[in-house]
Amino acid sequence: MTATAQTAEEHGAAPRLAAMPEDWSRALAVVAHPDDLEYGVASAVAEWTASGKEVTYVLATRGEAGIDTLEPAEAARVREAEQRASAAVVGVTEVEFLGHRDGVLEEGPALRRDIAAAIRRHRPELVVTLNHYDTWGDAPGSPWNTPDHRALGRAVLDAVGDAGNRWIFTDQLELDGVLPWPGVRWVAVAAAPTVTHAAAVGEEAARKGLASLLEHRAYIEALTDEDPEAYARSIVHGGLDQYAQRNGGRRAVAFELHPR
Ligand SMILES: [Zn+2]
Repeated sequence: MTATAQTAEEHGAAPRLAAMPEDWSRALAVVAHPDDLEYGVASAVAEWTASGKEVTYVLATRGEAGIDTLEPAEAARVREAEQRASAAVVGVTEVEFLGHRDGVLEEGPALRRDIAAAIRRHRPELVVTLNHYDTWGDAPGSPWNTPDHRALGRAVLDAVGDAGNRWIFTDQLELDGVLPWPGVRWVAVAAAPTVTHAAAVGEEAARKGLASLLEHRAYIEALTDEDPEAYARSIVHGGLDQYAQRNGGRRAVAFELHPR
């Protein structure tokens, strides 16, 4: 530990984050809803795809329960289209929807099975998901997380193990012709209450990350009376600025990283 770090810690400052691993070529991002990745992760995705990495999105639901003023069938259509457009902005061309029902996701074998199948098909080295803890922050009284996020994130962490085990969900191996995939090296949890690693984000990737969130225009307009651009900028840039101090002054997306 350097004298500077010691001093910072004595004064209660959070320690510097480790750099996210970069020695990988394929990532799979698995989340519950359209927009879950655009509230922060998309800027890191833009950085990754710009450097030639391949990133695929898998969404458990179409977010059909997410817009109060739209019937679920119409909301699903709108939100799927917005998600595909927002993925394209950050260089992601493949977006899969698992078709689970929005709002009532259950952590368990049915969800794990579909996520394991996606991992076996796409064979990622890095899996990215969203906060599965009870709250968004680590301070007492932090805002409560949603049931879908809690169920989904935990199912992802479990499904990574399932995907590598040829004795779990064996029918996928027999009927779908996929092979077990024990090659996931890390699971990165975004927006976690405590974080360990930072993916630095430059100017261009931050711009794409912002544009990516703005593709969810119908959702944002239903959510807030604020100007969509101002709203998205405060979310995306605010998120990137939040961890700069713990990343040598460079803006970053922060993750809790679980090595496998
Ligand atoms: Zn969500």
